[in-house]
Amino acid sequence: MTLLAHQERAQGAPDTIFAYAGQAATRAAQVGRDNIVNATIGSFLNADGSLATLPAVELAMAEVPFKAKASYAPIDGIPAAIDAMIDDIFRDCRPNAFIEGVATPGGAGALHNAFSNYLTRGDVCLTTNYYWDNYDALLRLNGCSLETFPMLGSGESFNTEGCLAACRERAKKQKNVMLLLNTPAHNPTGFSVPLADWKALVAGLKDLAKSHQDGGVVVVVDVAYIDYAGFGSREFFKCFENLPENMITIVCASMSKGYTIYGYRLGCEICIAPTKASAEEFKHASGTTARGTWSNCSRPAMEMVLQIASDPEKLARFRREQEEFAGSLARRANAFLSEAKQVGLKPCPYQSGFFIYVPTPTDDDARRLAAELQKADVFTVPLGKGVRVAICAISEEKIAGLATLIHKDMQVL
Ligand code: PLP
Repeated sequence: MTLLAHQERAQGAPDTIFAYAGQAATRAAQVGRDNIVNATIGSFLNADGSLATLPAVELAMAEVPFKAKASYAPIDGIPAAIDAMIDDIFRDCRPNAFIEGVATPGGAGALHNAFSNYLTRGDVCLTTNYYWDNYDALLRLNGCSLETFPMLGSGESFNTEGCLAACRERAKKQKNVMLLLNTPAHNPTGFSVPLADWKALVAGLKDLAKSHQDGGVVVVVDVAYIDYAGFGSREFFKCFENLPENMITIVCASMSKGYTIYGYRLGCEICIAPTKASAEEFKHASGTTARGTWSNCSRPAMEMVLQIASDPEKLARFRREQEEFAGSLARRANAFLSEAKQVGLKPCPYQSGFFIYVPTPTDDDARRLAAELQKADVFTVPLGKGVRVAICAISEEKIAGLATLIHKDMQVL
């Protein structure tokens, strides 16, 4: 017998990523953390396995008075903190458009709001064939679902034509076409949509919006890993200037990774809207959804963001430390990728980010590959048709030999 509501039944499976991370933790308890390679965790870890945090953030957090941390935050977030997060996301690539933002509990909260406010129950959201699996749960809870198209075109390009074709098909079936792209530094592949492809894509989406006057086009850009994506990774924001009236872009930002404050739960949902009315409507709907879902979110994290943003020295130090992190991540990625090239292993195109992804012919093969790797105490996460290697969580020392092992194990699938 179950008392669960009908739509919630058979939804009790553990989250794949957390399930594999749990297996790694169990094994580490048996043989010691140093004796396994735990490439399951989506947090940036030091070589000794401890969480890597930014000293500039830690100091700023410590400077926030307790009573300020303990007070309720406004529903939409502290206005100056929202402005600071918006500035931090766009930096010198702020589009000339109507921009509003609402604080959310992490990037996940921003995604929830976007799905809840711009899709109708039963709608389908489009994304790439490789994707962060939590999108499924976030959409399901809003009565919607996900459909995918192949992410890659030829070489290292985005499959712009395939994406536009999928959007045009969707426009025949529902009011709002929602396209969700996790870029730059995509999870799980590390791929970033190149600027030239963004330009072609947005041109095609604008045309679609103009011919789809009964509804509109909503582009949701999940930029959770943008702070690790390096120079030039923000230029695509400018593509969203001069959108038609029935189109809007929603940027879902996470402070979890960029500030290394995963547990404080702060993100920002930002609109790039063509009209003032559309931006105001966004802000109003997002605030109302926030009120009815989590009410208001982490004040300590917002106060910390403000501490950093309001002091040029603190900001400069924070940015320097972020760059050091990005550099260390790039060294780990280079170590894996150059070994992969030597042995003939072919991961998905990687530009930046926390993860490298090795595709397999089928989902079953991915699970078999992960199981095979576990025999050598190497823990990865099978996600769809491939295995995700969290280079953010393992030292360069432990990366040595990993591509060779994966290549060898793939031969026996
Ligand atoms: N988007 C992607 C692709 C992610 O990988 C994550 C977290 O792992 C998020 C969004 C949400 O991050 P959070 O809610 O922790 O800020």
